[in-house]
Amino acid sequence: MSANSLPVPEASPSGENTNVCHSWEVNKALDLLDSNADSGLTSQDVQQRLEKYGDNELEENDGRSSWEILLDQFKNIMLLMLIGVALISGFLDLIAWQAGEFKAGEVPFKDTIAIMAIVILNGILGYVQETRAEQALAALKKMTSPLVRVIRNGKLTELAAKELVPGDVMLLEAGMQIAADGRLIEQSNLQVRESALTGEAEAVSKQANLILPEDTSLGDRLNLVFQGTEVVQGRAKVLVTHTGMRTELGKIATMLQSVENEPTPLQQRMTQLGNVLVTGSLVLVAIVVVGGTIQARGFGNIRELLEVSLSMAVAVVPEGLPAVITVTLALGTQRMVRHNALIRKLPAVETLGSVTTICSDKTGTLTQNKMVVQSVYANNHVFRVTGEGYTPTGDFLLDSQEVSVEDYPEIPALLVASAVCNDAVLQKEKGEWAILGDPTEGALVTVAGKAGIEKDQWNSKLPRIGEFPFDSERKRMSVICQVEEVTTGEASLTAVDPVIAGLIESEPYLMFTKGSPELTLARCTQIHLGNNSAPLSDEQRQQVLAENNQMASQGLRVLGFAYKPLLEIPPEGSDETSEVNLVWLGLIGMLDAPRPEVRVAVQESRNAGIRPIMITGDHQLTARAIAIDLGIAQEGDRVLTGQELQHMTDEELEQQVDLVSIYARVSPEHKLRIVQALQRRGRFVAMTGDGVNDAPALKQADIGIAMGITGTDVSKEASDMVLLDDNFATIVAATKEGRVVYTNIRRFIKYILGSNVGEVLTIASAPLLGLGGVPLTPLQILWMNLVTDGLPALALAVEPPEPDVMKRPPFSPRESIFARGLGSYIIRIGIVFAIITIILMLWAFNHCKIPVEGLDPERWKTMVFTSLCLAQMGHAIAIRSNNKLTIEMNPFSNMFVLGAVVVTTMLQMILIYVPPIRAFFGTHWLPPSELAICFGFSALMFVWIEMEKLFFRLIGKKSV
Ligand code: ATP
Repeated sequence: MSANSLPVPEASPSGENTNVCHSWEVNKALDLLDSNADSGLTSQDVQQRLEKYGDNELEENDGRSSWEILLDQFKNIMLLMLIGVALISGFLDLIAWQAGEFKAGEVPFKDTIAIMAIVILNGILGYVQETRAEQALAALKKMTSPLVRVIRNGKLTELAAKELVPGDVMLLEAGMQIAADGRLIEQSNLQVRESALTGEAEAVSKQANLILPEDTSLGDRLNLVFQGTEVVQGRAKVLVTHTGMRTELGKIATMLQSVENEPTPLQQRMTQLGNVLVTGSLVLVAIVVVGGTIQARGFGNIRELLEVSLSMAVAVVPEGLPAVITVTLALGTQRMVRHNALIRKLPAVETLGSVTTICSDKTGTLTQNKMVVQSVYANNHVFRVTGEGYTPTGDFLLDSQEVSVEDYPEIPALLVASAVCNDAVLQKEKGEWAILGDPTEGALVTVAGKAGIEKDQWNSKLPRIGEFPFDSERKRMSVICQVEEVTTGEASLTAVDPVIAGLIESEPYLMFTKGSPELTLARCTQIHLGNNSAPLSDEQRQQVLAENNQMASQGLRVLGFAYKPLLEIPPEGSDETSEVNLVWLGLIGMLDAPRPEVRVAVQESRNAGIRPIMITGDHQLTARAIAIDLGIAQEGDRVLTGQELQHMTDEELEQQVDLVSIYARVSPEHKLRIVQALQRRGRFVAMTGDGVNDAPALKQADIGIAMGITGTDVSKEASDMVLLDDNFATIVAATKEGRVVYTNIRRFIKYILGSNVGEVLTIASAPLLGLGGVPLTPLQILWMNLVTDGLPALALAVEPPEPDVMKRPPFSPRESIFARGLGSYIIRIGIVFAIITIILMLWAFNHCKIPVEGLDPERWKTMVFTSLCLAQMGHAIAIRSNNKLTIEMNPFSNMFVLGAVVVTTMLQMILIYVPPIRAFFGTHWLPPSELAICFGFSALMFVWIEMEKLFFRLIGKKSV
């Protein structure tokens, strides 16, 4: 729906239709929305407007109603089979009931009711899981939801996007996702990507001073910005005109598929599992029906065969599995948050464990991002700077002697450039000096302060009237300042600060540029020496580059500075032509110490078969020094630069990609090529990023990781996971959690399915062995699958990581759930399980035939039921480790397993010995001697698994 076709015009506080605000002048817009460009709204205005317009929030909806979500749960093949079983079982009961076959007190349709109850429970659980998972993820996403900067009560404040109201004055800068619709008040180089709204991938340049016809289409309203779109470049001041569902995005929100519904790898594996189980059980049913019919030479026992088939179908479905998986994933997400890794897309929980390569940014992720300037270089002098943190006190040393910077005129000019060409603010917070903004820039304000050059003072001496903002592609930024009080002629220059006077002749404007030293130097033709500029010789260039290399190889992050006197203000967007013929000022090198915990994390990831790679915009020598220090690279390793990469074809890059551990001076677009090359080599890649331009690489990576602290909204939106502390070590910790989650899921699938196969084979064998009757009723099977299997499986889901979890190579995310021996384990253990139970069944059947006063001859069935349950307890204890014997493990390291085994065994006893419950479950009283036999037989299961572990150890095979 377009804005113009809205039935009711959106009224501003003054009653005007704000939908045509693109046709108003800025001042008219401000008047009509009763706001002020400098002081914004007052708290009282905000309160009233919040009441009138509500929170600035979109109502998210994936297009399915609650009923549709619920119905979708029953599209699962295993649940469909259970529904079929319930119906047939009900039909059989109906016949028996009409024939008067039910004994007095016996509940008819018990199995049908129980099965349907389980089906409905599973459906509800799936529904709750789906809606809760979405809600939980939405809540987690909120933790990183965008903050907006607004002017209220005349002060700049940061607040949550949902608190915005029409009339607010909002500030935008590159990387932000725009939180409401608004009219531009002023802007500088503003480029906005509106693909979320218009589908147009190209960024659009916006202009504040346009007045457009009322019927201008949405895509052409160049004086407006819209919610959900992204600021790619520049900055702006915006008057908020629409919030919440009144925004253009809000109007189409109901049509948006904002919640993703792609099946996770686990869901796909579960579908595969369901198909295998259902097919397997149908084949077995066929064998039993055909075998049983041949054996009985006719269809005489068809009803018995039907009952056996129904029991087998119930036995094969792991009814407890969905609940256990839900809990495991939920616990996994929680543990990850505790490690500061916030999952934004659920599949990341399981797939993290499969990561083979981590591509990490350097600044802030591998390093602390606490910059301290160490060296200042100008006119062939290297000054060492002392001092700590962002406190602007320290000395300048030349050859270890303290010096006064005024004696070296290039230094004050360089430091003025570093303070003015800078967006950071240095301020005292609770008695400590801290910065607001980029740490690199903070360090520059600090070092200027050490020489008495205060940013605020210089901002008024040289007010900024234009800029070419920084971006990682350009690797530089420039500001254009007005030189105060300069008119023309020599005389007026006396009013100007001597430092400025040394930079200009009579020009009214000065441009300061800072950026990567090589690139900035390449744009210089002159050099500032003493108080004059002179042509820059090749020899001087070489000297600067040699000093840059010297500083970089010590691991310093080095920036180059230059300036240019200007007669005119350069037009917007003319950076390529304006940032030329600069006058070189000097270099500043700052230390950004590696994070100590990263060294350990790098080692741990290497042990785990995960290769860490550094991808940085910084200089190759700085990158190498830090990579070697952290163990990411070794002396002599190849560093690939962005420039070299630019000249490589995709095939050439693919050849190299396994050999390179450091990519330096790269741009965000190179990151995308690196991920793609790694993926073509079959690597499973996690990639970090923080900028707007990192979004494509984050989306392409198997796990896109955004920075919680320094990351832009756009990068977070594109990511699967957000690092709340921006730390590389957190990625490794999350990877470990991912492995633990997947290992535990495999463990309880092994456990549950091993038992299901055992049950099915036991049930199938009864008619084939001519025992007559089904050993287990559907109700008993449901009990086993839900309680006897479910409780210990839940306990196994919280099994602590095995010590070798980070000492083995990663598993492929594409492998089948049955890979690496899991399928053969399930069949092998299922057969062993069945053999043990069948032997017991045969013995019990014959033993119980001998009449004993007060004992029911049918009690052999209860013995089979009890043995199956108890054998599962032994299985649960033994399966805790794949390789370690139970006696080698601390029995108390997972108290839940012990607890589950004790509780389940007691419940089984209640089923046999408490009369009303016994009647309901159709079990029989067992004398202690027979119960002891059940315990004895069940113990064989535990013994077998322990023997298997010993055997595999002897032949040197590690089961995983
Ligand atoms: P990483 O990619 O590991 O985070 P980085 O911070 O060096 O490394 P970018 O932020 O893309 O990457 O910066 C690239 C280069 O641009 C830096 O090495 C530096 O030379 C230059 N640079 C960084 N910040 C600024 C800035 N605020 N002003 C001017 N130039 C800058």
